[in-house]
Amino acid sequence: MNVLDQDVKYLKGVGPLRAKILGEELKVHTCRDLLYVFPVRYLDRTTVYKVAQLQEGMSYVQLSGAIVDVETAGEGRKQRLVATFSDGSGFLSLVWFNSIRAIAKNLKIGAAYFIIGKPSIFNGRVSMVHPEIEDAKAGQPAEAPFPMKAYYRVTEKMKRHAFSSNFMSGLVKTVFSMTGELTETLPGYLLDIYSLLPLREALYRIHFPKSADDLPQALRRVKFEELFYLQLSILRYAKNRQQKQRGYVFRRIGDSFMDFYRNRLPFPLTQAQQRVMKEIRRDFACGRQMNRLLQGDVGSGKTVVALMACLIAIDNGFQACLMAPTEILAEQHLQTLQQLLAGSQVSVALLTGSVLGSRRTQILADVAAGRIQLLVGTHALIEPAVRFQNLGLAIVDEQHRFGVKQRAALWQKSTCPPHILVMTATPIPRTLAMTLYGDLDVSVIDELPPGRKPIKTLHVYDSDMPRLYAGLYGQLRAGHQVYVIYPLIEESEKMDLKDSENGYYTYKEQFPDYQVARLHGRMKPAEKEQIMHRFAAGEIQILVSTTVIEVGVNVPNATTIVIENAERFGLAQLHQLRGRVGRGGDESYCVLVTRPKLSDTTRRRIQTMVDTTDGFVIAEEDLKLRGPGDLEGTAQSGMWFELRAANITKDAELMAVAREAAAKLLEQDPHENLAQNRVAWEQLRQQHAQMVNFSDIS
Ligand code: ADP
Ligand code: MG
Repeated sequence: MNVLDQDVKYLKGVGPLRAKILGEELKVHTCRDLLYVFPVRYLDRTTVYKVAQLQEGMSYVQLSGAIVDVETAGEGRKQRLVATFSDGSGFLSLVWFNSIRAIAKNLKIGAAYFIIGKPSIFNGRVSMVHPEIEDAKAGQPAEAPFPMKAYYRVTEKMKRHAFSSNFMSGLVKTVFSMTGELTETLPGYLLDIYSLLPLREALYRIHFPKSADDLPQALRRVKFEELFYLQLSILRYAKNRQQKQRGYVFRRIGDSFMDFYRNRLPFPLTQAQQRVMKEIRRDFACGRQMNRLLQGDVGSGKTVVALMACLIAIDNGFQACLMAPTEILAEQHLQTLQQLLAGSQVSVALLTGSVLGSRRTQILADVAAGRIQLLVGTHALIEPAVRFQNLGLAIVDEQHRFGVKQRAALWQKSTCPPHILVMTATPIPRTLAMTLYGDLDVSVIDELPPGRKPIKTLHVYDSDMPRLYAGLYGQLRAGHQVYVIYPLIEESEKMDLKDSENGYYTYKEQFPDYQVARLHGRMKPAEKEQIMHRFAAGEIQILVSTTVIEVGVNVPNATTIVIENAERFGLAQLHQLRGRVGRGGDESYCVLVTRPKLSDTTRRRIQTMVDTTDGFVIAEEDLKLRGPGDLEGTAQSGMWFELRAANITKDAELMAVAREAAAKLLEQDPHENLAQNRVAWEQLRQQHAQMVNFSDIS
């Protein structure tokens, strides 16, 4: 057996218990896995800082000097050890909250030490919490063979089992000492073409760099490899789908569709909606499986397009399903569809995690027998228990965490893979789309229905509340409804934020003549559902809510949304929230309430919201201000496997290179049998074998 495949429990100092912790915390099971746990940062030990140079916000630094005083302060659980350190340029407080006795015993006043830690400045005094401390007698660390010291992530649980960064480093060193050359995981000719380091050298340099200059090249190699296999997976998947995936043909335009189009459609379709319908119909007719992404800003009218696509499937004797990210949204979709289809022959039902017991049994039976033609629901729809008689079309709404794996799970639901339409209001930057939806065709609704008045967005401070309440009175008297959004569920001592609970009572007090209700994530689905019903029916005028209503909720009579603590929300989220209003013909308002003192980026974020309602402009600004954040998590979860080194947005350039390399390989080796690529196909096979089981999808 290859040493690298050995269980880590056999490594010196590990054993069964700590091996289990490594598995749970870092997903490290074998010696190979250890080599791929990369340091999270490095300290250049050739540089020694002076206390006088330390500033707030600095990363980890090294100092050299002596301890001049040690004392304990505080009582009981708040007890701490404070040592004063000096290097002649100033004084630094070293603070420990744990293992106080043991540390105190080892500190020698007057002895020379190296101190490593992250400086912070409090009340004008520089301090370091839990610094590393090292006897300086042994000589300058800069003279060691590895002047770059690597730091590994150690979780709280790991710490409780005596793991430390140094211990992790030691394990990695042991593994390297046990292995000779590592089997190359990329085809050799790619190393030449793209000037990549051999695997062992790259990994060794990442763990034990001789200097900072060693790192970029080493990282480039491992990142390239990850991105290369990622792109190879996507491209091969797309190619197979195009070649092999025959799709159902929906040629008929029948009664359900025509009845809806002629008698029920409440408005003429916009040009953009018509164009998208044409694109979908072309997909339906071509004999291949549709895999289409429909992008359209909040309120652009994706739902009705989805419904018409479903009706075509139904007219051709198939079932359709519509999947939403939350129960509330699924419920809302059901209502919307039931309204639009009232009096028609189409049978619609709802299936979510909270549809239970005999009702669930009945629905599952009806779906299996084909008695339900359109099934609306949440992720519950892709569970194995849900069997369709003949699912022809699956529509996924606002579900960013719906990647290749989840789409693949849908395939199991039919003899032939159903057509798939993924709808989203979040514009996705190109580099991400290429990866997340690399195999999807894209349609865009780039036009809002006519007669929409642009939403007026105002920024007010906490101190303006009386004026805000006066404005809300005006809207309420005119018969409109109001959303009030808070970022948190419960009072948080630390952050001292007004939360939805307090807010609820404030609004109740301010507006005694109106019905005020609360909605938050901890409520039972049935409770939430009931409140949403009552809000949609106009029985509740003010809905104080956390972000549970974020996407998709549609109550056209709600004309104002007040977002409290707006500084706590990201741009994309603010834009989604704002999209809850402006859905009817009335003038609508979005009020962003913040405290007066804001950081520059926060102010810019709020100003962007005030300045524009264009989702694409906002998405771009968001990327600039914040980096890809959420989208990255989204993209990660949509993929075949996790990336350990590369970052799909920061490494966009390398991604493009890797994609090109993967495309070329696929083109030159269509039958996957060239000797020079054997290692690549084998890697791909292994990675796919590690893929999460389809039934794991939550
Ligand atoms: P989203 O794209 O955000 O899902 P919806 O489908 O919920 O948007 O549509 C938003 C609102 O616009 C709904 O009230 C819907 O009835 C209405 N709507 C959709 N298409 C049109 C249209 N062509 N003309 C007028 N109103 C429309
Ligand atoms: Mg929608």
